[in-house]
Amino acid sequence: MKILVLNAGSSSLKYQLIDMDTEVAIAKGGCERIGIDGSFLKHKSPKGEVVIEKAMPTHKEAISLVLETLVSKENGVLNSMDEIDAVGHRILHSGESFTSSIILTDETIAVCDSNADLGPLHQKANLTGIAACRELMPTTPMVGVFDTTFHLTMPDYAYRYAIPNEYYEKYKIRRYGFHGSSHRYVSTEARKFLGNDDVKIVTCHLGNGSSMAAVKNGKCVDTSMGLTPLAGVPMGTRCGDIDCAVVEYICDKTGKDVHEVLNILNKKSGVSGLSEVSSDFRDLRKAKNAGNEKARLALDSFTYGVKKYIGSYAAAMGGIDALVFTAGIGENDAVIREEVCTGLEFLGIEIDKEENLIRSDAPVHEITAKGGKVRVLVIPTNEELVIARDTKELVFGK
Ligand code: AMP
Repeated sequence: MKILVLNAGSSSLKYQLIDMDTEVAIAKGGCERIGIDGSFLKHKSPKGEVVIEKAMPTHKEAISLVLETLVSKENGVLNSMDEIDAVGHRILHSGESFTSSIILTDETIAVCDSNADLGPLHQKANLTGIAACRELMPTTPMVGVFDTTFHLTMPDYAYRYAIPNEYYEKYKIRRYGFHGSSHRYVSTEARKFLGNDDVKIVTCHLGNGSSMAAVKNGKCVDTSMGLTPLAGVPMGTRCGDIDCAVVEYICDKTGKDVHEVLNILNKKSGVSGLSEVSSDFRDLRKAKNAGNEKARLALDSFTYGVKKYIGSYAAAMGGIDALVFTAGIGENDAVIREEVCTGLEFLGIEIDKEENLIRSDAPVHEITAKGGKVRVLVIPTNEELVIARDTKELVFGK
């Protein structure tokens, strides 16, 4: 069985074709600059890597080119499109409308559309991709997998903001959380690895966008992002948690309006704003090592933020059995992992410093120090596989 996983952004489209017998991606790639001059597709398969330049005014042309490439003689991996058994689409926001993944129909898509206000840019792009794909593959079953549903198990006192009730009741303003497929994947893998379902895990998804989750017995009980992905630990360009009165204060001082300030908090803040060097942790490390004080501050602010969330989630769950690192920084940056864990020995978190430096291809790499009470694991995330597994289960059963 083969499942195509699609993630449509405003001007991009990422894809993976996954063989569900082996759960391995047979081909993957992405289209960039959709609707802009100079659009191209990058495609990787056992036949090699190619870049195809072609005009893609809309997502329809982009999906069409992906399908053509998947069946092409030179670069393809399929004899015909009929070999694609189902398509799984990543969707940003479920709101409170769905608590799990869904079969996409006119009715369920209309509900997704009604939630678009909660994340207008992404949700509209996701739905544009879905509409284009349904037009091109009208008989292929399709599933939507949300970034938010994994977090919908949070108790009300964790997801409600302490603001007047009417804003929740009328507009559904609350904490939702994001990166749900990633937190779900790594916490599931961790539980399998530990051979125990009854565990308290803190998952750290540390990438360009970073989020933390407290997962107790497989269910999310808290997460660091909020109504939008701006909240939580400081990120590449997003500020993370700040006093919201800062927005009004900047507006008053600079004459900027709320939208401009929010744009700055989303795109020009985080470690990039603090360091004035880069949002990329490799550049920040180099700059810090060369004596750049602002880069040092940015890195310290990030590790301090992650550390504080680990402590607060240990408190939220009444303890911590495992700590999981994933995503670009979590999987690759051994120094950040060590810095985050240093000082958390009082919680039972201790890593083996040598083991931490080893780059492992294992699906789960354990870096716990001998005698360490909390199991510390590095687990490469695989959001596409979560989408493919849900798609398979919803369309064809377990
Ligand atoms: P992601 O959003 O998960 O793709 O993560 C992207 C981020 O991971 C980049 O912006 C880098 O900051 C970071 N990253 C990727 N590779 C490394 C590495 N080898 N060492 C440190 N940071 C890395």
